[in-house]
Amino acid sequence: MHICPVCERSDGITRLRAHWSALPPQGRAAAPHLARPSLDDERWAGPVGLLTVGCALLVSEAWLGYVGVAGGGVWLVSLRDKAAQTARRRAEWRRKLFCRRCEHVFLP
Ligand SMILES: [Zn+2]
Repeated sequence: MHICPVCERSDGITRLRAHWSALPPQGRAAAPHLARPSLDDERWAGPVGLLTVGCALLVSEAWLGYVGVAGGGVWLVSLRDKAAQTARRRAEWRRKLFCRRCEHVFLP
């Protein structure tokens, strides 16, 4: 049994995920801070394309290939870190609990 750290009651505790999925659309619009972290702009085509063009240029021994490969690599790594952060935030969101009495969100 979980106890809310704010109101110190246990009778209104539910999973945030369940609370969120039961909310009507206007309820969701009124409480965007309760929403699951979105999978925002993780577009892999850009860095992968740059890396591919860089490799092609390297094969043809153009110096621009190094720039392409380095740029694509850095871009890819930063995107991967961002994706990992989003995955962590989403995993945390799935574990979070919601107190219906005081609307406090907390981790068990
Ligand atoms: Zn509470």
